[in-house]
Amino acid sequence: MDFLRPATWADALAAKRETPAALPIQGGTDVMVEINFDVHRPAALLDLNRVRELTEWEEADGRLRIGAGVPYVRVIGELGDRLPGLAQASRTVGSPQIRNRGSIGGNLGAASPAGDSHPPLLAGDAVIEVESADRGVRMIPATEFYLGVKRNALEPDELIRAVWTAPAPGPQYFSKIGTRNAMVIAVCSFAVALHPEERRVGTGVGSAAPTPRRATAAEEFISTELDWDGRGPLSDAAAQRFGELVREAAAPIDDVRGTADYRKHALAVMARRTLTWAWNDHRAERREAS
Ligand SMILES: Cc1cc2nc3c(=O)[nH]c(=O)nc-3n(C[C@H](O)[C@H](O)[C@H](O)COP(=O)(O)OP(=O)(O)OC[C@H]3O[C@@H](n4cnc5c(N)ncnc54)[C@H](O)[C@@H]3O)c2cc1C
Repeated sequence: MDFLRPATWADALAAKRETPAALPIQGGTDVMVEINFDVHRPAALLDLNRVRELTEWEEADGRLRIGAGVPYVRVIGELGDRLPGLAQASRTVGSPQIRNRGSIGGNLGAASPAGDSHPPLLAGDAVIEVESADRGVRMIPATEFYLGVKRNALEPDELIRAVWTAPAPGPQYFSKIGTRNAMVIAVCSFAVALHPEERRVGTGVGSAAPTPRRATAAEEFISTELDWDGRGPLSDAAAQRFGELVREAAAPIDDVRGTADYRKHALAVMARRTLTWAWNDHRAERREAS
């Protein structure tokens, strides 16, 4: 197996053009498991760890651009105040060792329906920046990035450069059900993000369909239902209906981690809870501001 070690982003793109079969490796927390278990044996590995740009993040024009190689531990430590939903999801990933090595770009590359970064990226309107040596940059909305179980929208000569998302314009929450509290793949997960200036709620549903997805009908319902100008509490009826619509957006399967029915039930509960927490935070922020 060849081992390619580009030192720059331009060299990495050139290597991917020369050898499209080369499998990118960042933290290796998915790639090495698959190689060790002989799931596949790529012709070459394209090690991205020397490409400095991938491990940097910046704020530009009111948006955050997070390099594909930024590990979870840095999302938690450096971006927790700007992206609380993604940071909460990052805290639930694996163990400290996995959070040190594992990256957002690697989660997107693996495109598992259970990947924990996907629901908050969907809820926060993230856009994935990918690039190829021949065709340049493509900006792919997260809603169009996940194509199937462990399949994403990358072409064979493309690499993920970064994720773009706005610093949280309002409260964000992530909730995950696992068979225990740590080191666990999600049975199902849910993220909510309030966008108060646009009077809109974003959602992301994880591990309950072939791909992570938004619960669009739930978003539309609750966005018009909420009293954005006032400070009123979320009504039980609205929270209940929101939960039902999130449940209806899911298309889970029965598997070793949980049944489809359990997943649907859990999603409705998580949706109600996270929305209530987010709305209460929003009301408190409005009280403090006035
Ligand atoms: C013990 C253990 C526990 C885990 N727990 C969780 C968990 O709780 N939640 C969760 O979501 N995941 C979990 N994972 C899976 C894994 O840690 C995550 O998916 C992580 O985000 C992968 O990041 P990485 O940098 O290690 O990716 P890598 O393993 O390096 O790569 C993963 C995939 O992305 C591709 N890739 C990487 N970088 C790029 C790039 N720049 N451009 C294009 N393709 C790229 C690779 O080719 C590969 O297909 C766990 C894994 C282990 C081993």
